Amino acid sequence: MSAAREERGVMVREETEKGVAMVRQTCVYCRGKGIDPWATPNQCPICSGSGAIQVPQGTRRCAYCYGTGIHHDRRGHRRNLTCQVCGGKGSVRVSEPVQTCAACAGTGRNWSNEFALPCTTCSGVGVVSI
Ligand SMILES: [Zn+2]
Ligand SMILES: [Zn+2]
Ligand SMILES: [Zn+2]
Repeated sequence: MSAAREERGVMVREETEKGVAMVRQTCVYCRGKGIDPWATPNQCPICSGSGAIQVPQGTRRCAYCYGTGIHHDRRGHRRNLTCQVCGGKGSVRVSEPVQTCAACAGTGRNWSNEFALPCTTCSGVGVVSI
């Protein structure tokens, strides 16, 4: 067996986004109450009970949870789970410019799946970077 090994000088470019303005907004998961809606009495896991969260400017509403931060099942019923796409914040950061995801028509969901899992093309965001 040949031991020829090609080593490429892979440059790992780390792009840190500096100077991203953070926006304070009401926590959508608990609607600003600071309490986990399903585990009372319990502190909201998203905002740590403060009722507000900081999100980077330029975020989009999370298509998968309709911007609620809460996981919905196929019928649109709320489940006591945080949205796996946005982590419960209700918004996601995307690299502009974007276009509506053709695979899910912007819904962020894979409707052919019984559990309406996040669309694999856009990861549930509903848009893809172009
Ligand atoms: Zn909260
Ligand atoms: Zn979400
Ligand atoms: Zn999609």
